[in-house]
Amino acid sequence: MPQTDCVFCKIVAGQIPSARVYEDDACIAFLDIGPLADAHLLVVPKEHYEWITDMPPRAVAAVTQPIPQLARAVMKVTGAEGFNVLQNNGKVSGQAVPHVHFHIIPRREADGLGYRWNATQYPGGKLQQLQQAILKATES
Ligand code: AMP
Ligand code: ZN
Repeated sequence: MPQTDCVFCKIVAGQIPSARVYEDDACIAFLDIGPLADAHLLVVPKEHYEWITDMPPRAVAAVTQPIPQLARAVMKVTGAEGFNVLQNNGKVSGQAVPHVHFHIIPRREADGLGYRWNATQYPGGKLQQLQQAILKATES
């Protein structure tokens, strides 16, 4: 069900404008209005889901299906050397719009974007403990 107060539901419905670059039965893609780089795109399912964990696997497959094609187009148009695919879930992750979306962010050497990647190390046994816990949790 479309959410009346959701900006991306409104874009899907054509109630507010967007610079669309792709559309199929399941999703649309359009230019982000606050781009981190030229041609920064958002790929959005037509149905309203807040988090990727709310989506049936088939819906996830459908919304991610055009990402390679769109990323190739963005690279071609911008001459970018790479790209990030980013999908935030929850305020704590940086999600500002609570309707699932995948960012395609073109990247260049020394573009200054970056992000903190403060790699740590597991204390003894923790990695195996987490492995077992996640294996068990994915069974249910
Ligand atoms: P996130 O922080 O992952 O929720 O990202 C939300 C993104 O949506 C931001 O990059 C915004 O610039 C973008 N955004 C918000 N409103 C619009 C809009 N009307 N059209 C295009 N992009 C939008
Ligand atoms: Zn929505």
